[in-house]
Amino acid sequence: MSKRLPVALLGATGPVGQKVITLLEHHPQFELLEVAASEGSVGHTYGERVQWKNEIELPARVGAMKIKPLMDVQSHFIISALPADIAQTVEPALAERGHVVCSNASAYRMDPRVPLLIPEVNSSHLSLLSKQPWKGKILTNPNCSTVFLAGALAPLQALGAFEHISVVTLQALSGAGYPGVPSFDLIGNIIPHIGGEEDKIKLETKKILGQAETAAQFGVTVHVHRVPVTHGHTVAAHVQFKSPVNADAVTQIFAKLAQEKPNYIKLHTAHDRPQPLRDLQPHDMRIHVGRIKQGDRPDTIGFISMGHNLVRGAAGAAIAILEEYGKYSQ
Ligand code: NAP
Repeated sequence: MSKRLPVALLGATGPVGQKVITLLEHHPQFELLEVAASEGSVGHTYGERVQWKNEIELPARVGAMKIKPLMDVQSHFIISALPADIAQTVEPALAERGHVVCSNASAYRMDPRVPLLIPEVNSSHLSLLSKQPWKGKILTNPNCSTVFLAGALAPLQALGAFEHISVVTLQALSGAGYPGVPSFDLIGNIIPHIGGEEDKIKLETKKILGQAETAAQFGVTVHVHRVPVTHGHTVAAHVQFKSPVNADAVTQIFAKLAQEKPNYIKLHTAHDRPQPLRDLQPHDMRIHVGRIKQGDRPDTIGFISMGHNLVRGAAGAAIAILEEYGKYSQ
């Protein structure tokens, strides 16, 4: 008999749900036993309903699973890949029943009782779980661009306090769900707007880089863009510190982390990297950083960070948070 912990997946047929399935297939600790989706999918097999868009084949075992209603799942651990408006009511109802819900949705990210986690950065925020009123728990992962900004900024806090951060994102198509943005709108084009995204990046970054109960204090200005890239969000960040900073020190910090935690930071030194098409792997959890430069001012540096929006930006992040929760709750 399997010793892995049973997991249920809500919103199993979307791009994030599909990536969760591929990542859990050989996971040493967790085993996917239940899939749930909308009413229209309930009762069908997963294979009948999903438009499978992954690099690896749909595991036959999962393809044969019957899709359940959201509230019928039994597994103690739940990964939610639901749209935010559905997550808003379903996630606390399941937490109330005692489940541990790890959510990709934005509904509870900014709730002061809910940890918004990048495990390598702010696992101390798990202390917020003691504030939750439910029998179970809700944990959340960041927006799929926030993680590449906050994850790269976190180690740079060792160089001093931030005054202001200017951010431009270039976000892939798979970040918009399936079928997402019509091809007529996106092929050969760039759309300089994604609803709600700029505020999410701004607020979530300050929550993640702050103390558990107090957001970090610095300015953030964000412009987001949807670009015709399949997977991989790129973030260009210019960081103004409160005191002078040296770009070489930034490179050294990333180089050290890349050695110590290769699943967290990948440092690129080539002048034309990182690139989504060339540098991402299907199960890539790395935050790829490069193009580190001194700004015109002695207190300002710039860098590019990039990563897989469905892996580090969603499914892989949710699984990493469940792993972290497992250590915390032991
Ligand atoms: P999505 O289009 O937001 O969600 C699709 C899934 O939700 C499908 O399984 C769908 O089931 C289910 N669903 C839709 N309406 C439902 C309802 N009324 N009741 C129950 N289930 C319902 O797809 P996604 O892109 O995979 O995103 C999932 C969540 O993760 C979203 O909250 C999104 O914002 C967040 N997120 C996405 C990314 C990304 O890069 N895509 C990154 C980070 C976070 P049916 O097939 O039955 O319709």
